[in-house]
Amino acid sequence: MSAAGETIAGNLARIAERVERAARRAGRHTDEITLVGVSKTFPAESVRAAHAAGVRHFGENRVQEWEKKEPLVRDLQATWHLIGHLQSNKAARAARLFHTVDSVDSLALARKLESSLAESVGVSDAKRLGVLIEVRVAEAETRSGVSESEIVAIAEGILGLSHLDLRGLMCIPPYFDEPEAARPFFRKLRGLRDDLAKRIGRELPVLSMGMSHDFEVAIEEGATEVRLGTALFGMRAAKNVKGAA
Ligand SMILES: *Cc1c(COP(=O)(O)O)cnc(C)c1O
Repeated sequence: MSAAGETIAGNLARIAERVERAARRAGRHTDEITLVGVSKTFPAESVRAAHAAGVRHFGENRVQEWEKKEPLVRDLQATWHLIGHLQSNKAARAARLFHTVDSVDSLALARKLESSLAESVGVSDAKRLGVLIEVRVAEAETRSGVSESEIVAIAEGILGLSHLDLRGLMCIPPYFDEPEAARPFFRKLRGLRDDLAKRIGRELPVLSMGMSHDFEVAIEEGATEVRLGTALFGMRAAKNVKGAA
């Protein structure tokens, strides 16, 4: 194994222990929690090393970056998530390259994804794209995502789109030095998910919340997917840390 591969495998082992302890504190089972390795800015070899260590879900935040990497890892059995803001003009490419878009923030975008899937696949091809609605849990912050008041309308709209499979909600709370401070936002997303599921009469199994510095708190509050970049792959180079897909 390469040195980078050993580092990633070691990081994964430590993450697994922390996930396990957080789950135990909350009376949950670790098999309810999926680790999404956030490989943005890291090369295809890092994706490969994480896959070899057992990671099966990967998140990228830019369509263009993933278009370059994807051919190099296409042979791997994995679920590829888009987790960054998606511009409508890249919806068709995203719909083709990802299994799930975890950052849907408008019904217009959902319709764009739907129409590109409807056009590109034959009647017999049943590709359905998983989607999460990204919620802006801290209204004062300028993070992407929909406001709470828009969630129901967008969800109901998505339910009418036959190529999209609405699976749940996602959020990025504000960054706090003290991860405990993010707890109310995670709790809020869970409440919004529970309310929405009742309202639309349908299960919404996925709560994508928690990143490297706060995933344990997110797990205690019910996260089913934690998105880990730094904790798994190490520090990213300063540029391209955030940004649009
Ligand atoms: C980069 C990113 C992550 C991972 O961040 P880390 O703090 O490195 O774990 C998670 N979610 C989204 C949406 C991201 O853009």
